[in-house]
Amino acid sequence: MAECVKILVVEDEARMRDLLRLYLEREGYWVVEADNGKKALEKVAREEFALIILDVMLPGMDGLKVCQEIRRTHAVPIIMLTARGEEIDRITGFELGADDYVVKPFSPRELVMRVKALLRRSCPQPAGRDVLTFPGLSIDHPARRVEAAGHEVSLTPKEYDLLYFLASQAGRVFTREQLLEKVWGYDFYGDQRTVDTHIKNLREKLKRAGRGAEHLVTVWGVGYKFEVKA
Ligand code: CA
Repeated sequence: MAECVKILVVEDEARMRDLLRLYLEREGYWVVEADNGKKALEKVAREEFALIILDVMLPGMDGLKVCQEIRRTHAVPIIMLTARGEEIDRITGFELGADDYVVKPFSPRELVMRVKALLRRSCPQPAGRDVLTFPGLSIDHPARRVEAAGHEVSLTPKEYDLLYFLASQAGRVFTREQLLEKVWGYDFYGDQRTVDTHIKNLREKLKRAGRGAEHLVTVWGVGYKFEVKA
């Protein structure tokens, strides 16, 4: 997934760039910096980025104009950094093709969460990737190990399979029939309440660990989905 982790940070304030680099590198991303819009456009023309973090307030060409220019040729996800209260920038940013925005001053956790959410949407990971990580929850698939709020959660094999299946397709809603078929297999001769029971147990175990149950969402009249929640 190397091509999915290079992030361009466009910001003229060196302190803010350093801060962004620190947060993002800590998460394992590769950070490239540009201190003005012109340099940013040159880099975008030459290199592939998985995501761009773009400050609105830049000397010369402002971030909104840079966003518009990038959008002429690239579909790369863009997060705009705006100052508090500049709602007009946010609205204009979305109109010009920004995917999300973060208001300064922001918490590192919020920024990293938004980066991850956008990357998950734009770079779907191949099936069977090793470790799935979400706010408060990680699923190490080779080890079949689940950690919630830093505590290992002991699951039955089917509870694990169900959680992994839903989490690996986060955002998608599945009916109970589909889950029975995908997780228990075609041959399973059982009742749809099996799914409900397993979801209930999973939620209880995650709640006891302190985090993670909030990702398991009931979609009334349909079934269940794993939703990434902050
Ligand atoms: Ca700035």
